[in-house]
Amino acid sequence: MTYCDLHVHSTVSDGTTPPRELAMLAKTVGLSALALTDHDTTAGVSECADACRELKIRFVPGVELSADPILSQSADPRRGTLHILGLFVDPTNPGLQNIEQTLRLAREQRNPRIIENLNQLGVRIDYQEVLAEAGDGVVGRPHVAQVLLNKGYVKSIKDAFSRYIGEGAAAYARKDRLAASEAIAVIHSAGGLAVLAHPVQLRLNEAAELTHYVAKLKEMGLDGLETRHSDHRAADVEQFERLAQQLDLLTTGGSDYHGSRKRIELGGQRVPYSVYETLYTVWRRKRG
Ligand code: AMP
Ligand code: ZN
Ligand code: FE
Ligand code: FE
Repeated sequence: MTYCDLHVHSTVSDGTTPPRELAMLAKTVGLSALALTDHDTTAGVSECADACRELKIRFVPGVELSADPILSQSADPRRGTLHILGLFVDPTNPGLQNIEQTLRLAREQRNPRIIENLNQLGVRIDYQEVLAEAGDGVVGRPHVAQVLLNKGYVKSIKDAFSRYIGEGAAAYARKDRLAASEAIAVIHSAGGLAVLAHPVQLRLNEAAELTHYVAKLKEMGLDGLETRHSDHRAADVEQFERLAQQLDLLTTGGSDYHGSRKRIELGGQRVPYSVYETLYTVWRRKRG
């Protein structure tokens, strides 16, 4: 059996492994296909693509866009997050570049507000420390969490989210978000397939609610569902596979590897290589 991993982060966003090293690690763990899906950026795609070519691993240029989970009043998850993966996107597409720029600006406005909130809570942290932690990467809350951990304010990254920076926690600050329809449209205009990432994170507990929600995304053009993911239990995977079948959606899967910041292994979801092949075939056919 050969495997793939179609949801992976690098140092270009909030992972700790550079794009080239991800390809090498994929080789080491025996993956036959890899997608790089950094948050709101495709900046690592070309480096990872080159390394995968050298190592004879099939590569999928990807991105993970954060979108507004509120689709309408009747499809409002209230507390969840909505992430849409773009697979097989063209990273040079001007529309996609433009959205990436907008999303980076939204982060640049939000991040200092998180720091201010932390300062008001008596946590001594400054934005420069967070920027240093992020290096060249798109700055995200995991970088803030890492600084809090390094300075001994929290016991773990998870602890940082639950005590300080997770949704609803004391120092949380929202960022402006893209409409789901826009996220799907820009992925399509960049030639990609749009896939709902980790449906559990929507926190729609009723199966009927989730079906209604995903059906709405499908009306907006959604192509698929991520059924295997490190946050999904076996029962979730089964539920999402059935839902995909019911709504005639493609399925995908990945680990959501972030390097050393999360206890997740590259390739750990054991997604069969055939999942990649099906996506690739459909994508080729769509492109005509
Ligand atoms: P941001 O895009 O900057 O808002 O940060 C989102 C990132 O934070 C994603 O990579 C999530 O995986 C991570 N994240 C969100 N909630 C948690 C949590 N409770 N524990 C650990 N990581 C989290
Ligand atoms: Zn992340
Ligand atoms: Fe995500
Ligand atoms: Fe992710």
